Amino acid sequence: MNNKKYHNFICQIIDQDLNKNKNLSFHTRFPPEPNGHLHIGHAKSICLNFELAYLYKGRCNLRFDDTNPLKENIKYINSIKYDISWLGYKWYGNVHYSSEYFFKLYQYAKQLIYQGLAYVDHLTKEQIREYRGTLNTPGRNSPYRDRTIQENIKLFKKMKKGEYNEGEACLRAKIDMNSSFIIMRDPVLYRILFAHHHQTKDDWYIYPTYDFAHCLSDSIEKITHSLCTLEFQDNKRLYNWILENTNVKHYPKQYEFSRLNLEFSILSKRKLKILIDDNIVEGWNDPRISTISGLRRKGYTPSSIKHFCQKIGITKQNNLIEYSLLEHCIRKELNQTAIRSMAILEPIKIILYNLDKNHKEILIVPNHPNNPDMGTHEILFTNIIYIERSDFKEEYDKKYKRLRIGEEIRLRYAYIIKAEKIEKDKFNNIINIICYCDTNSLGKKPKNKKNPAVIHWISIHNALPAEFRLYDQLFNIKNPEQQTNFLSYINPKSLIKKYGFIEKKLEKMIYKYIMNYNDQLHFQFERIGYFCLDYIDSKKNYLVFNRTVHLRDVWNVKK
Ligand code: ATP
Ligand code: MG
Repeated sequence: MNNKKYHNFICQIIDQDLNKNKNLSFHTRFPPEPNGHLHIGHAKSICLNFELAYLYKGRCNLRFDDTNPLKENIKYINSIKYDISWLGYKWYGNVHYSSEYFFKLYQYAKQLIYQGLAYVDHLTKEQIREYRGTLNTPGRNSPYRDRTIQENIKLFKKMKKGEYNEGEACLRAKIDMNSSFIIMRDPVLYRILFAHHHQTKDDWYIYPTYDFAHCLSDSIEKITHSLCTLEFQDNKRLYNWILENTNVKHYPKQYEFSRLNLEFSILSKRKLKILIDDNIVEGWNDPRISTISGLRRKGYTPSSIKHFCQKIGITKQNNLIEYSLLEHCIRKELNQTAIRSMAILEPIKIILYNLDKNHKEILIVPNHPNNPDMGTHEILFTNIIYIERSDFKEEYDKKYKRLRIGEEIRLRYAYIIKAEKIEKDKFNNIINIICYCDTNSLGKKPKNKKNPAVIHWISIHNALPAEFRLYDQLFNIKNPEQQTNFLSYINPKSLIKKYGFIEKKLEKMIYKYIMNYNDQLHFQFERIGYFCLDYIDSKKNYLVFNRTVHLRDVWNVKK
């Protein structure tokens, strides 16, 4: 394997396997449960499985692990397919479902019963848990464990026909109630569920468990390397036990790697669902959560997410990844690709008293300072402009380098102005700043003086109203995932909305984007940050921009 970019310990295993078996047809799979949207943790697994398949000229399947119809939904299937394709990956052949194999799995279960390796049990869920014992105490055999094979076959068929109520019977593997691995203490293989399934409709009353379905589905699909996260380490015993005790022709191997844990983020679908159901966030695509759809809406691109997954690598160590690394990856990309323009989030008016009321000057500005190929756009300079409220200070402050009475400032791409007085309303709020414009300063350095600081601005005749959504972390602690009461750590300021202006001359380009349903249009609003058009809430005449990331790279500074 010569691609260093994606090298990790799993590559060493694959290299060895390929050395031993030159005919090995390398095959991975990504097996999501369709019970929620994908998040950045899934992206780690997606990148691993698909990138390895590309690297080794193998294949990667997409298989929905759909063994729990109570929690699954077709809308999750569609969103998962969309997100994987959006990331730029193509699964091999058709989309697969564990439910495609329900009949085969049923036959394999009967095989286990015929060998005396599975039995129908009538203990309740609670009793099964109690009989299972703990890490320090052995389990106890169920009183139904020693039924005859014929009886078990008969009862299993009864289960299949729907002749038992939910919870009245289940099928369990007959392994070892004293095993030091709790997973091997007669795990449940099938349970009864009178549920409508999105794929198999009302065909089944019994559903295989994850452990029973997963290894056999891997085998049926001829997966060679079944990659999963570390919490399945113990399940590997059961994975192998099932394959060894059924007459499968193909033996996949399971390898584990550590899950992604990301600072300030919840990466458990169950907990994400709580955030959504409790209206703490607005849905699966809320930019404050690290779902793929949330990150997309915030402005993260497929390449930035892949770059991040590459940088964190694949290991067996559990750690908490810094959020600033994820931000670093998108910032690095947007620095190259985002169109530069000006936006005012909290406007205050400047009146340039020495300019004519009809003064209209078109200035041509680059879309990117270092990339002429990105072209230029026009801005308009007139006698009344908006600047950012925070770029003016009334009180004396020696350290303040922006606009003050009696001081000069350069308007980005335009002239030097000097503030002379302010006008206030009856509540003592500043409404206008009256300035002098040095009409001889365009593109010229001031003589015998230091260059003044530069601020951004927009002419009132080139100002298009827009909403700006400024996102901060949803939690005010780094590891909310580890807190049982994670909801008590919500940052009340995770979303702040501002109502200001963007350059009206960009309107045409933006509307074209909205009309074409393109999902991402990025800007660097100078001095403010990288923003992305919100393609869901933006409409003609109402534009919304989401802040993707600040300009300042804290990750790079620290390293
Ligand atoms: P959740 O706890 O969020 O519900 P899950 O593991 O149940 O996650 P699945 O849909 O079963 O979610 O996951 C599909 C694949 O993605 C699995 O192989 C799983 O190991 C992997 N995966 C899930 N979360 C992460 C993560 N945080 N980091 C890396 N891989 C992950
Ligand atoms: Mg799972």
